[in-house]
Amino acid sequence: MIDGSEEAGSMAGEAQADCLFCKIVAGEVPATVVRESETTVAFRDINPQAPTHVLVIPRVHYPDAGSLAAAEPGIAADVLREAAAVANQEKADGTGYRIVFNTGAGAGQTVFHAHAHVLGGRGFNWPPG
Ligand code: 5GP
Repeated sequence: MIDGSEEAGSMAGEAQADCLFCKIVAGEVPATVVRESETTVAFRDINPQAPTHVLVIPRVHYPDAGSLAAAEPGIAADVLREAAAVANQEKADGTGYRIVFNTGAGAGQTVFHAHAHVLGGRGFNWPPG
């Protein structure tokens, strides 16, 4: 569902010419893809922070998880389902894993195309840094 609202001068959900993850979806930037679905792509993070560190992204462009969920709740659910499937595929679900959505620069978001980090294969502390 595209709601017709404007986002950075273009229709919400449309690929953005200057977006790294839109380029990965389009195959214009290479990535090590571990899973794909009709609505999502999952690929290894270029700078892994754990033995398993995979990013799950929607094919459509929204700047963060909240805006994706508001506009496309079904695709947001697909991202979560695929994140769990990645953890299972990587055998990271037996010992526990973490799904992280950094939202906003202050929380560490550096790529403004919604993405779930799936981290596993080591222990984790709480609270996170
Ligand atoms: P954020 O900081 O926005 O939550 O996460 C962005 C993630 O994208 C970072 O963990 C970063 O290492 C990863 N990343 C940045 N550029 C690339 C790239 O070109 N390829 C891949 N596979 N990951 C990238």
